[in-house]
Amino acid sequence: KSAFQIGIIATSLLAFIFFSSTKIALPFAQSIPDDVRYLGIWVNSTLATAMLCGGVYAIHRESTGQNEISRALRTAVRNNQLELHFQPQVDNGRQIIGAEALLRWKHPQRGYIPPADFIPIAEECGLMPLIGGWVLKEACRTLALWKEDPVLAELTLAVNVSAKQFNVDGFEQSVLDTVKLFRIDPAKLKLELTESVIISGVEPVVAKMNALRTSGIEFALDDFGTGYSSLSYLRQLPVSQLKIDRSFVQESLESPGGASLIKSIVRMGLDLDLTVLAEGIESATQHLFLLDCGCHEFQGYYFGRPVPDAEFKSQITKAAQGSTRHPTLSQTAVR
Ligand code: C2E
Ligand code: MG
Ligand code: MG
Repeated sequence: KSAFQIGIIATSLLAFIFFSSTKIALPFAQSIPDDVRYLGIWVNSTLATAMLCGGVYAIHRESTGQNEISRALRTAVRNNQLELHFQPQVDNGRQIIGAEALLRWKHPQRGYIPPADFIPIAEECGLMPLIGGWVLKEACRTLALWKEDPVLAELTLAVNVSAKQFNVDGFEQSVLDTVKLFRIDPAKLKLELTESVIISGVEPVVAKMNALRTSGIEFALDDFGTGYSSLSYLRQLPVSQLKIDRSFVQESLESPGGASLIKSIVRMGLDLDLTVLAEGIESATQHLFLLDCGCHEFQGYYFGRPVPDAEFKSQITKAAQGSTRHPTLSQTAVR
């Protein structure tokens, strides 16, 4: 983007130099009196200089703004301002089968900052390996703690991996190293990718995914349906779960078109032997409709919001006390 900005400034400067120093004149141009011309030269140079300064200032501001956030993010990692929150995922019998880890930045002045506000900047500043590495380590540490607790031991933990993070050389090895370090069962770790992971060709992505899958780690395709070329990639990527984006769930009850669309998506996922999870379930009506479509896993505020680990644990423990076998989320347990 900044190369484009610099390009525009450079072109404008060259055009200015060219037009102010050649004698090119259009055939119908009339010569103007000298005193007007002198004034024109002043106005012209002043405007051009002011515009140049403005452009440089805008670029400078943008880069210092990003630098500030990037510096603040580095500090955040060092000073433990990052947190993982956990949102339950349930099966069609409302049993909690796992959780998704969602990143939060607890800013000392601004409170919790949602990931959408800083992950894109972190990606642009090249901070994602650092932050993503922290998330992965924290997730594996959590799984290691869960392993010791009978009510949490069977849960899977889904971790979001950004496209840039996944495509960094050696990503797969760093995941395998972290899993080994914390001695967790790799089958409990699920990595959530979006279709944007295919930046340059699908083969290298598939190869990386397969390298991780052989150790037992599973993959989910997040926000399904919001990217491009979903269908062709869906067939090629070795994912075991399809996460239907919240926007489809919302539309499902708003129009007959929305309802049939989500039915076809669920059917397609099931036909491809994938587990189909609906994201962003907020009401009983949505839940019932998606159950009816054949969807068998759910996540959303209706079952529980993302909460810090201690709260998540106490919710699960409370839910487990009400059920004999596995923790089941009744609405009263989470609200
Ligand atoms: P996502 O992976 O699709 O996560 C689901 C988002 O939907 C979360 O937002 C969650 O809080 C929200 N959500 C869940 N249930 C409901 C519901 O019933 N209604 C509504 N309105 N929203 C619901 P959040 O935590 O703000 O995260 C936004 C996105 O940021 C995530 O979307 C994910 O793409 C990204 N993200 C979060 N944590 C990480 C991370 O550790 N690494 C990376 N690379 N990306 C992350
Ligand atoms: Mg996700
Ligand atoms: Mg999603």
